[in-house]
Amino acid sequence: MIKLKMYINGEWKNSTNNAVREIINPANGEVIAQAAEGTLEDAKVAIKAARDAFESGIWSDLTAAERANYLYKIAGKIEENFEELVDLEIMDNGKTRGEAEFDMEDAVASFRYYAGLIVNSGGETLEVPDPDMHSMVVREPVGVAGLVVPWNFPMLMSVWKVAPALAAGNTIVFKPAEVTPITAVKLFEIMEEVGIPAGVANMVLGDGSIVGQEIAESNDVDVISFTGSTQTGRRIMQAATGNLKRISLELGGKSPNIIFEDVDLEVAVDQALFGIFFGAGQVCSAGSRILVQEEIYDAFVERFVERTKKIKVGSGNEEGVEMGAIVSEKQMNNILNYIQIGQEEGATLAAGGNRIMDRGLEKGFFIEPTVFTNVKQDMRIVQEEIFGPVVTIQKFKDEKEAIQLANDVDFGLAGGVFTNDGARALRVIKKLRAGITWINTYHPTFVEAPWGGYKQSGIGRSLGTYGLEDFQEVKQININMNPGMAGWFGK
Ligand code: NAD
Repeated sequence: MIKLKMYINGEWKNSTNNAVREIINPANGEVIAQAAEGTLEDAKVAIKAARDAFESGIWSDLTAAERANYLYKIAGKIEENFEELVDLEIMDNGKTRGEAEFDMEDAVASFRYYAGLIVNSGGETLEVPDPDMHSMVVREPVGVAGLVVPWNFPMLMSVWKVAPALAAGNTIVFKPAEVTPITAVKLFEIMEEVGIPAGVANMVLGDGSIVGQEIAESNDVDVISFTGSTQTGRRIMQAATGNLKRISLELGGKSPNIIFEDVDLEVAVDQALFGIFFGAGQVCSAGSRILVQEEIYDAFVERFVERTKKIKVGSGNEEGVEMGAIVSEKQMNNILNYIQIGQEEGATLAAGGNRIMDRGLEKGFFIEPTVFTNVKQDMRIVQEEIFGPVVTIQKFKDEKEAIQLANDVDFGLAGGVFTNDGARALRVIKKLRAGITWINTYHPTFVEAPWGGYKQSGIGRSLGTYGLEDFQEVKQININMNPGMAGWFGK
């Protein structure tokens, strides 16, 4: 049994009330770990440690090159422990081996990217209309950064925040999702191993409404970077008003994948399957609404359903498995509830729709890849994020209608367009109200590019140079090169 403690001020700690939470392998329902269940008191102590460490300058006063060196070492340690981290991620989250390997590779790349970026990101000198003045802009850390992440990419979402926050010179208080703390704990073990000073990187485990809420509310936290549901994002935003802390929110999505009639049908079907069923659909940018032009709609649906039924679902560890488990029983029940809602709303269930209850999978939390057709735009299964292996397929007549349907939801995270007409692809993409878009592909993402949404999918951008800016203040410095009297008032 793995025992998970919290990392506060350079020490591994149990909860102040000794409470623990059982961590379950979603592929077989077995308890794999016991995690300390942090309390409000634990959160306060961790925040204080981060505050003191920031004020001491132990981290922010290092040169960028020195901080970068730590980040390079962390990347190296993730590589050294690659296989173990992959195994733990599969066990904790239920994802497939290929998916977990992708996450760890991206985690390594993210630490290296931000290490490189911070040593290359200076300020600027301004041309001002006064020959006596020298005016410049410098970038500084915001202070204590609160980082709260979800369960769908436990390691990767952590790294997307930890790497830029530390690179910029902030100290951090981090909280993983309740159900998937294992690789995050490993990440903090690695940070201890490479010698990140005590108090710089703190991790509290526990309930979002207690520990997470305190991180969002505390006047000692200067910036909160949150990834999770839109509903929680709203709470974080309200909680952050006390000290007007900076906020960055990466929230939910209901992203369109638009397929025009001129595409190669096999390619479009294959890409759209990846768009929705990668990660068992528990991906914020999933292409969960497929829009198909009427000329090829029937053929597309037929082939898509045929391919969906062939997807091999099972334990992430099993050879040849293409789609893994749902992260928890709770999430599985949420998804099954939406499948029922879809049927009650009158949509046609064209594939899947059930929990898998054979082949030994009944002990875990598995759902068949599910396809709904005959859906209407105002149905809940079209408007609301399901966050599971459930897709709707709609028909459109022309470009105008495709854009109208694509944008007619509260979210605006991602979207894809498939067509061989390059001009049309760009016309449509430019009309999409979404922050992450693809032409003739779905899902590829790079640490170099900004990640985030329009509308209710969030505020701000992670990754790239934008992700670093979330954790930096900018300061103007004006220097009088000919010191003397101001001369504004008489003597
Ligand atoms: P969630 O909002 O329930 O929880 C996310 C995190 O917030 C968890 O660590 C949780 O403990 C914490 N939390 C809960 N209540 C809190 C509160 N009141 N104050 C502070 N923290 C609180 O989300 P989830 O179910 O873990 O994750 C799924 C959601 O995450 C989906 O909506 C998905 O779209 C979104 N997501 C978005 C992105 C993105 O980049 N836009 C990436 C991954 C996941």
